Amino acid sequence: MKEYDIIIIGAGPGGYQTALDASARGFSTLLIEKEKLGGTCLNCGCIPTKAYNAIAHFIQSAQSVSEMGISVNYNLDFSKALEYKNNVVSELIKGIDFMLKKAGVEVIYGNATLEKPNITRVNGEEYYGKYIILATGSRNLAGIIKGDDKALNSTDILALDKLPESLSIIGGGVIGVEIATIFAFFGVKVTIFEAMDSLIPQADKEIARRLKSYLNKLGVVINTNAKVLEIKDNSLIYEIKGEEKEESFDKILLAIGRRPNIENIGLDEIGISYTRRGISVNDYFETNLPNHFAIGDCNGKIMLAHYAEFSGKVVLDHIEHKYDSFVPLCPSAIFTIPEIAQIGLTEEELKNEGTDYTVKKTMYRGLGKALAMNEKEGFIKMLIVDDKIVGCHIIGYDASTLIHEAMILMNLNVDSSRINDFIYAHPTLSELFK
Ligand code: FAD
Repeated sequence: MKEYDIIIIGAGPGGYQTALDASARGFSTLLIEKEKLGGTCLNCGCIPTKAYNAIAHFIQSAQSVSEMGISVNYNLDFSKALEYKNNVVSELIKGIDFMLKKAGVEVIYGNATLEKPNITRVNGEEYYGKYIILATGSRNLAGIIKGDDKALNSTDILALDKLPESLSIIGGGVIGVEIATIFAFFGVKVTIFEAMDSLIPQADKEIARRLKSYLNKLGVVINTNAKVLEIKDNSLIYEIKGEEKEESFDKILLAIGRRPNIENIGLDEIGISYTRRGISVNDYFETNLPNHFAIGDCNGKIMLAHYAEFSGKVVLDHIEHKYDSFVPLCPSAIFTIPEIAQIGLTEEELKNEGTDYTVKKTMYRGLGKALAMNEKEGFIKMLIVDDKIVGCHIIGYDASTLIHEAMILMNLNVDSSRINDFIYAHPTLSELFK
């Protein structure tokens, strides 16, 4: 039986990044993937949505530059947009393949199962790993609403080769609002159905309200407190304000969440504990079975690509006995237009805790650079407790980049009153923090 220091199952951002890191640290590493390198993130998640989002941004610019004296007549050739998105994905996959080869990571394509502790079976062969890292990711949640097998999921919608005239999106979470933004800019009539009382229920409420108004301006119809009861062919039966209604759409997207991939990989066979939410792990992402780890979406902790990658680093540090008590805060971004980004606590969480806090808020429209760029919409909101920043929430142009300033301040525990002692280059969007 061939032996490795580390066997990683799943080549999404958790798996392939950890494989590269492991190899760089001198471990013999085997990476097993049953579909394509890059996993959900590259093939049907972060990257294809951001390629489409970039196209939507150009459309937004074309629609708004007349104020600057430029007239643009644009036309979206959707088949070219699809090709652009697919090219971005395949270029990145080639890049990962190249990096893995260069790093000396062995890659096997096939469905891996755990046979016995430390032993993985793939394509009829057994391999021994001193350490096993599960990075099997997640898939779209379905089977919850009657008839939801008739709806598209996020993978299907990104593969469409023709734009629908109308699209209904069940679920106003991160994936739902990102896809709503893209398709609305592409000229599709979009309607969102969200069972809770606001979009992106985990976001700061003020940010979610602002997003709702931006999406409405874009022509997106948003039904909150709307419970979809059934999907029948192209129509939805839903309940809103105690009334049952039915509406038809060209396409229906189900975006109600993701489910960790924990089935048929041999967890029960070798005695690894899990719940419906994912594989159970400790602070080092180690399962109850020593030397067997679970990183990324399959442990259900924080379902984000960068957190999957970070978890792999923690595992490798742990294997090398490099202990560090520092637990960094994880930022997140939502790629609507304008973008949303957040780190730390929300105002609602502070209220519920009964903590005394202050809010510092700055509007993009008050900033020279934002006005000059014609990016006036949005604000940054900082939540402060005893001079420490405990939460930062941004809605506005390039929020996904700006949040990293808060990430550094918060991780280094910098007093918020120190910010005015720093020099910010002028004119920049970073001055929002000042
Ligand atoms: P995955 O990327 O899901 O990879 C798991 C891999 O394991 C897959 O390739 C799978 O084929 C393989 N696998 C599973 N079982 C086996 C087996 N038994 N044998 C061999 N291989 C196996 N996150 C962000 O941070 N930013 C974003 O902008 C963002 N946008 C998203 C947009 C959409 C539409 C979606 C769906 C997700 C998005 N995400 C985003 C979430 C992100 O894609 C995931 O958090 C990330 O991919 C998780 O990485 P992972 O390595 O845990 O799993």
